[in-house]
Amino acid sequence: AKSSQRGSIRFYSHDLTARARERMEFRNSLRAAMTNKEFCVYLQPKIRLSDGKMMGAEALVRWQHPTRGLITPDHFIPVAEELGLISAIDMQVLSILCRYLEVWQPHLVPEQRFAVNLSALQFNHEDLVQTISDTLQQNRCGTEHLELEITEGVLLVHCEHLANKILQLKQMGFTLALDDFGTGYSSLNYLSRYPIDVLKIDRSFITDMNTSRSSQVLVKTIVSMARNLNMKVVAEGVEDEQQSALLQSYDVELAQGYLFSKPIPIEQFAQCYNLPEII
Ligand code: C2E
Ligand code: CA
Ligand code: CA
Ligand code: CA
Repeated sequence: AKSSQRGSIRFYSHDLTARARERMEFRNSLRAAMTNKEFCVYLQPKIRLSDGKMMGAEALVRWQHPTRGLITPDHFIPVAEELGLISAIDMQVLSILCRYLEVWQPHLVPEQRFAVNLSALQFNHEDLVQTISDTLQQNRCGTEHLELEITEGVLLVHCEHLANKILQLKQMGFTLALDDFGTGYSSLNYLSRYPIDVLKIDRSFITDMNTSRSSQVLVKTIVSMARNLNMKVVAEGVEDEQQSALLQSYDVELAQGYLFSKPIPIEQFAQCYNLPEII
């Protein structure tokens, strides 16, 4: 019994070593991905429900790993945050988007907005605003078609620094969107304290609308609150006609989801919407 126990311990520790080695390799390859520019940008269109027009898109990062193939953000963003790489990744995404916007600009209508996600951690950085403004300048890109998505959690720790950063970004001309709205916290007074332009209703509410009357009421309530606060609403994760019809009946202006399109590579997005490509 003793020897078999020892054997199992040896097996266990071997297993741990293998896992630890794999974790380390993943981390190293994530660091290398920065320098090798292995991140690419997918865009998911935002659709105006009244006429089906594309009114912009959300940029979603993907990692084109040399051996593992395409990796979605849920698998590497948390690690990137831990390693302090998230800011650099977000700026690579913004850079790529900016390069496209520069050539798309003459073909866009003023209301079209292209959004990037900002990790909540970025708001701890003193130089967030400077970093963003440098990235824009490097790509000779203005803010008129750009939107920044931040999560509710960011607004919870209210301090002067945060308010300043948000105000500065707003003054630079960005549209500001609150992502995953409704999943965070019950306190809503921060909504009037910050210059938020757009509420993105979290996918979970949209999913539940088909079966839950109370989710319908919640969505309707968010829509009327947004209207009273002069904010726009985007419904996330719209997957079927029933949801789309309900949202239209609530006068939700914009929707995003698999019903209209999955996120697609930015080059493909350009082709799809007759926008110039970058050679
Ligand atoms: P998110 O910002 O809430 O993005 C929406 C997610 O829902 C995306 O997953 C999108 O592909 C997915 N989605 C869109 N429509 C539907 C639908 O109809 N049904 C379903 N089931 N899913 C839908 P993705 O691309 O895997 O991104 C996951 C999360 O990773 C994002 O959630 C965002 O929090 C984060 N993320 C993505 N790109 C970036 C980035 O460049 N920077 C940072 N900091 N975070 C990012
Ligand atoms: Ca988002
Ligand atoms: Ca979201
Ligand atoms: Ca989310």
